Amino acid sequence: MHLAATLSWPKVKALAGGGAFALLPVGSTEAHGPHLPLNVDVVIAQEVCRRVAARLGERECVVFPAVPYGLTDFAAAFAGTVSLTADATRAVLSQVLEGIARHGFRTIAVINHHLEPAHFAVVHEAAKLAREKTGAKIVVPDHRKKPHGPRLGAEFTHGGSHAGRYETALMLAAAPELVDDAARRALPELAVDLPAKIKAGAKSFEEAGGPDAYFGAPAAATAEEGHALLDILAEISCAALLEVPK
Ligand SMILES: [Zn+2]
Repeated sequence: MHLAATLSWPKVKALAGGGAFALLPVGSTEAHGPHLPLNVDVVIAQEVCRRVAARLGERECVVFPAVPYGLTDFAAAFAGTVSLTADATRAVLSQVLEGIARHGFRTIAVINHHLEPAHFAVVHEAAKLAREKTGAKIVVPDHRKKPHGPRLGAEFTHGGSHAGRYETALMLAAAPELVDDAARRALPELAVDLPAKIKAGAKSFEEAGGPDAYFGAPAAATAEEGHALLDILAEISCAALLEVPK
């Protein structure tokens, strides 16, 4: 795996010309309960990129610096959360993708792990815009969709995919030093079906029944489960990349 930020331009040029894949991790800066940091989505996206590169083996992979800001209206009231408008998010993402494509990367994957529906929709729109402008093949693996979602556990599809067992497990595997273990073990389970609440019209975590910006069961998370989930997420993204016709 190559980290674009650490390479010289001739090296990037050679990798792009040689047909390397480019990966763009996308996250958010937003509240993730009292036990996790603001950069959870960025950490997860970067770790998935690392595992995608490892799975691709011989095929060269260049991971670009993560986009740490997006549309995060649900967490807007919590300290530290920074939200961009849909227009700003779309502009930033499409222009970053155009920048990557302009210098020869023909197959690009956007690895987004900020799951707010309006944000994920904008990620798809930005990829479409950049695709139309550059002709590059830009895939947006969407692990919420069937058949992927159910593989990520019942909490992911019907519960607290925000800062609950799912994301806490991913963080225990990817960056355990960033998890406040005592805090997360003390958190009571919040059995809220977040996707259903969003469908029913909730516009914030408070309205959805999550006054501390977490849902589900952070106390039930394990690093072991997190590693298994990260491998599934990497597998989904790898498959999306390898399905792209050359
Ligand atoms: Zn998150």
